[in-house]
Amino acid sequence: MSKHPVPKKKTPKSKIRKRYGSFKTKVLKKLSNAAKLIVCPDCGSKKVMHEVCRDCGKYRGRQVLDNKKKIDKITKIKA
Ligand SMILES: [Zn+2]
Repeated sequence: MSKHPVPKKKTPKSKIRKRYGSFKTKVLKKLSNAAKLIVCPDCGSKKVMHEVCRDCGKYRGRQVLDNKKKIDKITKIKA
């Protein structure tokens, strides 16, 4: 005598897990496609496509960043 639709049986855990499992893989696939990671041709580490490699500082065979010269963190402000 219910006025709204009521499920006849309880949804099993396996069905819930299947549903959300497919959702998870879909989202992960989307995220991995958003940030395209490629292997750096110079040093072999992973880097984001169309960006300077953070490990060797090269982009398309050209040295862009000086990774020997490290930038010191600003701890004091000179007046
Ligand atoms: Zn590199």
